[in-house]
Amino acid sequence: MKNFHTWKKRLAFGTFAALLFVSVYNGGAKMQAVDALAKTGTAVPVLLSAPMASGNPDALTAPSQTGAPDNTATPGNTATPGNTATPGSTATPDSTVTPGSTATPDSTVTPEVSSTPTVSPKYKETLKFTSKTTQVKAGKKIILKAKRTDENGKTIASGKGSKIVFSVSNKKIATITKNGAFVGKRVGTVKVIAKYKKLKVQKKIKVLPKKTIGIDAGHQQYADSSLEPIGPGSSIRKIKVAGGTSGVASHMAEYELTLKIAKALKKSLVKKGYAVVMTRTKNSVNISNRERAEKINKSGADICIRLHADAADASAKGASGLYPGKSNPYVSHLSKKSKKLCDSIMKSYCKSTGIRNRGSIVRDDLTGTNWSEVPVMLLEMGFMTNAEEDRFITSDKGETKMVRGIVKGIDAYFGY
Ligand SMILES: [Zn+2]
Repeated sequence: MKNFHTWKKRLAFGTFAALLFVSVYNGGAKMQAVDALAKTGTAVPVLLSAPMASGNPDALTAPSQTGAPDNTATPGNTATPGNTATPGSTATPDSTVTPGSTATPDSTVTPEVSSTPTVSPKYKETLKFTSKTTQVKAGKKIILKAKRTDENGKTIASGKGSKIVFSVSNKKIATITKNGAFVGKRVGTVKVIAKYKKLKVQKKIKVLPKKTIGIDAGHQQYADSSLEPIGPGSSIRKIKVAGGTSGVASHMAEYELTLKIAKALKKSLVKKGYAVVMTRTKNSVNISNRERAEKINKSGADICIRLHADAADASAKGASGLYPGKSNPYVSHLSKKSKKLCDSIMKSYCKSTGIRNRGSIVRDDLTGTNWSEVPVMLLEMGFMTNAEEDRFITSDKGETKMVRGIVKGIDAYFGY
């Protein structure tokens, strides 16, 4: 539009100048003036050829650089307002047609027509992913982006209207929502496929854990009564692994129960997008409490859950949560978070199982807790010395409820 205005001004000015010129130098001088102004100038279109020389070439060259659509608009207008601007020239419609239309519209129309064939051959389409995301945390959503391009790499369609359909190779690891968003479900790698008609592209996306949970299944098949310090730098020593209790009704050993629940807990946590580190997956091991804590510390776990079962007289029942206190000589800095974790798990564990909540209790003499470098709690799942509770916590029905409660507590601790 700028060009047009400039041109319009120039045309008006040129016309005015030419008129002035012609009126001053009449007769023989007239031809010279015209020649000087316009190469195409003839005797008849004096008034027009003069402004054409000063204005039109600009108007022609400028839009043709900008591109075809502009040209079509400009020259069309050029003929009309040009004439109106020069009242003198309106009288000579012949000349308007001749100089204006000969060069201008032809050259402008031609490239427009010649550009049409490039549209008509069928595009050789390509499908491409435009989002570079290669990893997503479990539980997080990302919008998948792909586009259809022509052979020159020009985008034909992208986003909502592009009709590109996404899918994943493993729906356990991730899913695609109705809106086309990718949702990471559990740790692993999936192929993401983008499809449009026969076109197909794929890329891999890694689902990262939302958090890593350390699980210590308390005890082991055989106790280890040799000693180890109960905390870093401590002179107090305790046996490495105690024997644990066993069920008065179920006759299940505590180490069996803790591993059974640990395995079920792991399965459930993995489904929810957590990574899990187990201190043991078998009963026939010998790993001290200190070593268990160290294994979890090294794993990069965010928290540690220690699973145990209680023993007392037959009437005692309920679950307890044990955590390090504020004045713990080794891990006082973990006390606050450990209490939060402990409270959170106790609340949902007891709600889910119906087991009595004996509360969160400070315990600073537990080796496996004192060597921890992450928030830690020990769950006494119930009393194996109470027949009723023993039957429940060793049953499959109990297991489901216990695991559900612990997972909910972990979720709540992290704010999921
Ligand atoms: Zn125990």
